[in-house]
Amino acid sequence: MSTLAAAPLVDSFGRVHNNLRISITDRCNVRCFYCMPEKGVEFMPRSEILTFEEIERFVRVAVTLGVNKIRITGGEPLVRKDLPVLLRKLIDIPGVNDIALTTNGVLLPKLAGPLYDAGLRRLNIHLDTLDRDRFFHITRRDDLGKVLDGIALARRLGFGPIKLNAVAVKNLVEEDIVPIARFCRENRIEPRFIEFMPLDAQQLWNKSKVLTADEIIETLSREVAPLVPVADPDPRAPATEYVYTDGGGTVGFISSVSKPFCMNCNRLRITSDGKLRYCLFAIEETDVRGILRSGTDEELARTIRETVSKKWIGHEINSSRFVAPPRPMYAIGG
Ligand code: SF4
Repeated sequence: MSTLAAAPLVDSFGRVHNNLRISITDRCNVRCFYCMPEKGVEFMPRSEILTFEEIERFVRVAVTLGVNKIRITGGEPLVRKDLPVLLRKLIDIPGVNDIALTTNGVLLPKLAGPLYDAGLRRLNIHLDTLDRDRFFHITRRDDLGKVLDGIALARRLGFGPIKLNAVAVKNLVEEDIVPIARFCRENRIEPRFIEFMPLDAQQLWNKSKVLTADEIIETLSREVAPLVPVADPDPRAPATEYVYTDGGGTVGFISSVSKPFCMNCNRLRITSDGKLRYCLFAIEETDVRGILRSGTDEELARTIRETVSKKWIGHEINSSRFVAPPRPMYAIGG
């Protein structure tokens, strides 16, 4: 690689980008109503999806630009065949210091072992409720048992940290907040409450459906134990961390709507069909699949750098200018 690679990826607001989220499929084995319609989802043909070798090459080039944190997402990444093979490839790349994966947990009972053997340790498991009926209502699948078995197996195998991502939709999950928090305390898992964001394929989102971080903090402090902000927060982490004053662990809040954190954003995303996105809500995206299939590493590095240099200041959810991205959440990845 030429010296092009030396300088870190800094955008016009001075934000350094070292965190890459890789969506490895748009397919999923559940149908969360706030993500995709129950029926009629057209998934991308295999030929359009990046191969493991293309993903590995992209990461190798991105690492030369300062990327050192990787998160694997989907759709649901565990539905992608031979995922442990890809994980091993990425974990072995010098410069990749941290690799994590976000899953809905349904296939964890089957795949936690091979993922652990491939070297994965950090897991975020998406679970909004411990109530079987509400789980079915949200995901349109009767798989709560598999997810809970998957969490138990992941703990036994020694994954860690394990975090539980819960999307907080108002007038739906209020009854789940305390049970989820208690479940996580008992299992030494950190819950992450995620404010509902306007990324759903059916445009169901509106602000009145957002259960805010402050509302959840108030509930947990009243019902479980007082929560206070952690002493040494990581300013670049998407979640704002709180700790129980009784030593019962930490709780994370991803408050994209009520307290946007874009000014500390260090994230880039690549979709499963090879589109580079400088923001979860980006309208524009840059094709890198073409370069991966017929271009050079220099071209790739230049394109990554140009994409970062074009990055906007942040999402505009709270402004009248907001336009939802044309690509739905399941084809972007968390
Ligand atoms: S909304 Fe976009 S800019 Fe803001 S934190 Fe998320 S990815 Fe970064």
